[in-house]
Amino acid sequence: MKEDLIIAIDGYSSTGKSSMSKIIAKNLGFTHIDSGAMYRAVTLYAFQENYINNQKIDTNSLIEHLHDIKIEFKKDETTQKNNTYLNGQNVETEIRAMQISKMVSPISEIPAVRDYCVALQQKMGEKGGIVMDGRDIGTTVFPNADFKIFVTASPEVRAKRRFLEYQQQGKDIPMDEVLKNVNERDYIDSHRAYSPLRKADDAIEVDNSNMDLQQTVDRVMQIIQSK
Ligand code: C5P
Repeated sequence: MKEDLIIAIDGYSSTGKSSMSKIIAKNLGFTHIDSGAMYRAVTLYAFQENYINNQKIDTNSLIEHLHDIKIEFKKDETTQKNNTYLNGQNVETEIRAMQISKMVSPISEIPAVRDYCVALQQKMGEKGGIVMDGRDIGTTVFPNADFKIFVTASPEVRAKRRFLEYQQQGKDIPMDEVLKNVNERDYIDSHRAYSPLRKADDAIEVDNSNMDLQQTVDRVMQIIQSK
C-alpha cells in the first residue's frame, strides 16, 4: 500500500463517517482529518463573537474576521484521540453541542467560509497518507483522491445513532429533535449552491443502514485493498 494515498469519505450526517475514518486511518497508519470539525469550529467562533443572534448570521463580520480563526488538530497522548483546537483552545466537546449542530449548515453554505476551510483541508492533506471525511472531499477538496467512498443510511437509522450517542454523553435530546436536525442538515448540505453534498461520479457507495461500525470498516477496507 502506497504511503501517500488520499482517501475521501463523504456522505450524509451521522452515517458514522468520522468513527470509521478514524479506524481506517489507524489500520493504514494514516492521519484522519475530520473536515466537519472545521465547519463546527467556525460556527463556534461565530457564536463567541456574537455573529450569530437569534439564528441570524452577521455574514459580513464573519467573512471579515475569517483569517482570525486558527483551527488545529492535536492528538491527546493519553487517549490517542484527535482534538480540535480553536485559537489555541481545545473545543472538541463544545463543537459537538446541539446549538452548534443547528447552525453549522447555514454557516457552511457561505462560500467564503467554504473557501477558507477547503484551503486548510488541502494544505493539511497535501502530502497524502490521509483519510479525510466530510461532504465535498471527493468532489471539491481532493477531486483526484485515490479512493472515494460515499456513505449513506436511512435518516431514521442515522438519527437513532446520533440519539444514542447523545444519551451516552448524558445529553437528553428528544429523538424528534435529533431527526429534525439530521434532515435539515442533509437538506441544506445537498441543496446549497456552492459545493453541495453529492456523490462524486467515481465514488463507491456504501449503505450502512444494516451494518454496524465494524462491518462498515471491513467493507471500506475491502474496497481499498481490492484495488
Ligand atoms: O461531519 P459533521 O456532521 O460534523 O459536519 C457538520 C456540518 O459541517 C455538516 O452538516 C455540513 O453542513 C458541514 N460540512 C460541510 N462540508 C464538509 C464537512 C462538513 O459543509 N466537508
